[in-house]
Amino acid sequence: MKMSKSFKVLSVLMIAAMLVIAGCGNNKGKNDNAAGGNAAGGAAADSAAIAKIKERGKLLVGVKFDTRLFGLKDPTSGKVEGFDIDISKAIAKKILGDENAIELKEVTSKTRIPMLNNGEIDMVVATMTITEDRKKEVDFSDVYFQAGQSLLVKKGSPITGLESVTKDTKILGSKGATSIKNIKEKVPGVTVLEFDNYQDAFSALKAGQGDALTTDDAILYGMASQDPGFEVVGKPFTDEPYGIAVQKGNADVVKAINDTLAELKANGEYDAIYTKWIGKAPAK
Ligand code: GLU
Repeated sequence: MKMSKSFKVLSVLMIAAMLVIAGCGNNKGKNDNAAGGNAAGGAAADSAAIAKIKERGKLLVGVKFDTRLFGLKDPTSGKVEGFDIDISKAIAKKILGDENAIELKEVTSKTRIPMLNNGEIDMVVATMTITEDRKKEVDFSDVYFQAGQSLLVKKGSPITGLESVTKDTKILGSKGATSIKNIKEKVPGVTVLEFDNYQDAFSALKAGQGDALTTDDAILYGMASQDPGFEVVGKPFTDEPYGIAVQKGNADVVKAINDTLAELKANGEYDAIYTKWIGKAPAK
């Protein structure tokens, strides 16, 4: 059969277009595999999010600035220090080869997801519990710290644990924290005063504006160590497994974080960081 010249040209173009489309599909598949945890990894597998961090030359991390033991800014030196900061530095070292190639930006419980999702930060390392609700908005790394919700009261308070919290107890907490939702579920009708951050909530407790401050035990121990007039009471009444959050779909970043955590655990550095801040080795 004789084909017209224009039909031949068209056929060649169509075949070329199909090859290009097939090629794209293959590449995409390869990238997805690499990001999803293909052992091959390596520079060639870097996808957009990691490439962007490398191009910028520093990791932007959202951390707390007001939470002793996890992320606390020293107002005199301007330095931010804590468990979350040491973990962040290890991730910067993994991705960029330099633990100081990092910029720490302040987040609160309320601002951390919006700041992540509008691109101000690459990840959140800020006492953040992995929850099903949050998984709808962000992706999480493996668990890197196990906390549980508890109560901080003035020494001598009649509140000795969750059992003594009633509808008439005035509880203080931080906006956007799981602790607010949890206490309302545990004690229906309880009054909760919500503050923008933990510093303000603790100041309010000291000023007698409430009976107890509620959040994770590890955070409360940090507050109690600041002021001997206050103590953590009762047993933890929730599980708060902390995860590092990234924008949805950034599987390559999650992999880099999980690899870092696994390495820190294998080489003993995780235990050293934990002991440095928490004062004892992690439970095995
Ligand atoms: N871990 C809890 C949460 O993610 C409480 C601590 C916090 O507010 O950061 O909400």
